[in-house]
Amino acid sequence: MKIFNLTTFTFVLLFLLQWNFTYGKHLPLQVDKEYNLEFGLDEKLYLSYDKAKLSVLEVNQRDLYDTITPGRPPVKYGALDRRMGTSDKTARCETCGETLQDCVGHYGFVRLAVPVFHIGYFKQTLVVLQNICKTCGKVLLEEKERRKYLARLNNPGLDDIKKRAILKALNTACKKVSRCPHCKSVNGVVKKVGALKIIHERYKPKKANDVENNAFKETFNNAVELDPSLKFQIGKAQEDLNPLIVYNLFCKITSEDCEILGLDPVKGRPENFLWTSIPVPPICIRPSVAQNGASNEDDITVLISDIVFINTRILHSIQSGETISKFMEHWEWLQLLCSQLVNADLPGVQSIPINMVKIKRGFCQRLKGKQGRFRGNLSGKRVDFSARTVISPDPNLQIEEVAVPELVAKVLTYPERVFEHNIEQLRKCVLNGPDKWPGAVYIRSDKKDEKPKYLKYGNRQQYANNLKIGDIVDRHLRDGDVVLFNRQPSLHRMSVMAHFVIATQIALDNCNKITKKQLKHFFSVCFNKYRKSIIEPGTAVGAIGGQSLGEPGTQMTLKTFHFAGVASMNITLGVPRIKEIINASKNISTPIISADLLNKTSDVKSARIVKGRIEKTVIEDIAEYIEVVIKPNECYVLIKIDLEAIEKLTLEVDIFSIAKSIVLAPKLKIPENYVRIHKPDKIAVNIPMKGDTSELFYALEALKRALPKVIIKGIPSINRAVINEEKDGLKLLVEGYGLREVMAIDGVNGLESSTNHIIEMQQVLGIEAARVKR
Ligand SMILES: [Zn+2]
Ligand SMILES: [Zn+2]
Repeated sequence: MKIFNLTTFTFVLLFLLQWNFTYGKHLPLQVDKEYNLEFGLDEKLYLSYDKAKLSVLEVNQRDLYDTITPGRPPVKYGALDRRMGTSDKTARCETCGETLQDCVGHYGFVRLAVPVFHIGYFKQTLVVLQNICKTCGKVLLEEKERRKYLARLNNPGLDDIKKRAILKALNTACKKVSRCPHCKSVNGVVKKVGALKIIHERYKPKKANDVENNAFKETFNNAVELDPSLKFQIGKAQEDLNPLIVYNLFCKITSEDCEILGLDPVKGRPENFLWTSIPVPPICIRPSVAQNGASNEDDITVLISDIVFINTRILHSIQSGETISKFMEHWEWLQLLCSQLVNADLPGVQSIPINMVKIKRGFCQRLKGKQGRFRGNLSGKRVDFSARTVISPDPNLQIEEVAVPELVAKVLTYPERVFEHNIEQLRKCVLNGPDKWPGAVYIRSDKKDEKPKYLKYGNRQQYANNLKIGDIVDRHLRDGDVVLFNRQPSLHRMSVMAHFVIATQIALDNCNKITKKQLKHFFSVCFNKYRKSIIEPGTAVGAIGGQSLGEPGTQMTLKTFHFAGVASMNITLGVPRIKEIINASKNISTPIISADLLNKTSDVKSARIVKGRIEKTVIEDIAEYIEVVIKPNECYVLIKIDLEAIEKLTLEVDIFSIAKSIVLAPKLKIPENYVRIHKPDKIAVNIPMKGDTSELFYALEALKRALPKVIIKGIPSINRAVINEEKDGLKLLVEGYGLREVMAIDGVNGLESSTNHIIEMQQVLGIEAARVKR
């Protein structure tokens, strides 16, 4: 369940739901037309409800209680202002005047000084940014293309899947555009940096207009003058798309462009993807717990108060002026706090400012999971007149019967009215009382003022004698009563059915009576029943198929499988693996190639040599040290090779092949004559100079950093291979992609090699091979 993509409105509704389940009150969900509230149908995107309009007040005070006034009343305009309702049994709501029992609670809001990204819409924000020009806000398409996409999107027969495909194609097309067809400005890659930041690499492509690129770089001139070391960083400078820039850009998007972006121009304007104000939920969903003079506050209340605090700081720094770095720090902080309100786990956020409170339960946490609102409070309701147990089959029961333990039968009672025909039987029940089965627990009468008689105490003989027609006896369950039997998960109609109760233990039948003829008959009945149960015409096989796959999925908790005897090699199994197979994932979490050796019965040493040919080895693995050498007439990077390590790893490399690997390393581009070999174990790498000597030091350092990662042996995509001893000899288990390359390695039996990556299997060996392999 992707709680994440809940619309803001569902968010509001869930506030209400949460409150309702917490307090179990009557919920008058009045959806007022004036406020344009409707459940997020359309694009599942409905944000334009006006928080300010729905709210009763703007929360702008950080403090929760007025500690000076006696009685510690909540601060006006604070997060606990009584106009939003109350969680105190003795107080009354100041908006509707009702008590905790009857007031539904009322919303407040916090007006943010600067917009922040909404964590739930971050992905959509990114996509819209990729589709539009970062200068004029128009969709990055020529008029002709624009019309084409608009026509396709307006096709009346469009379903959701097709619409998504069109929008995906549009996104791909827009990403390729590097110059806006409308205002001619340069557009580059828009990407997410860290958890909640977006940058625009406007000037990355070298072919982009140098005039503009230089103009951008010139804006740093002042800074470079003050700190010359910045000069080398400017190449990395990129445009920061902060929430305010994004908000203003989104406001520019025309209604027609909204349609191309798959948004509703009236209800789902893209600027609503950002938060300019946040709703403060009613107090009854975040109750305070009073404790002798002090109180414990709900996480949400604490968070709201923090948001108000930091928001005030930002407002203040805008008005009075403060350093940019301080302002940005506060903004980032506000962003994190607002995200925590939705999801306290803050996916992707690594560092949290030390002074920031970390709350445990945001709205996501309150809703999802076993203890959440849906599974914990909605689906999992237990009620009176029910019992819960583990079930098991019993061959002695009829198909329409269910055995109920005596213990349960004594607790589950049935209110049976006394008539002439059953009075004797019920008298016996009354005499037995609550503890002896079949007994009864209460006797009630229709008369209002008469209390029910509890049969555990008192004179049962007398009660039985006085039993009269019209009384109601709460008697124990007994054979033949009808109960509803529900086996969870209730996936199909057979899950919930009425059964006859068998309350006692059934004596086992004597199984030796059986003749050959009886047995034959028994088997033929079984076979016919089995044939009939395969499928009935008209059954929704798709749904049953899905359920049949889904239900055992809930049982699969073991997610990884540890190879016996193989050092730390795990394989993804269970639900995650099934997902990979069904989705035909391109990236699977544990791709493993199992490669047979041509010489599988021989010793481990030859297997090690093959392992060395497959496993990626970089200079780092065999170098004793790598250092920069600066001499008056030359400078270079020196590598000392550890010949002993090469010997130990049984690697088929020598100093010459290593030097060759450095020359061939794709990114370094070092000419052959710049790499010199000092026998027996040193290699010197010179720097190709490009006129300017001022960058020499940085170039040397960069080379020193790059050299350890140069691949000298093996397949680049493979980090690890493990020798595994199996019944029929040695085998290599190779972690990573590259079946084709592994098959071609000397010493590997290509005919007997395979991978658990289905797509690769199909690409290398064909679809039949992929189908056969698990
Ligand atoms: Zn109220
Ligand atoms: Zn433009």
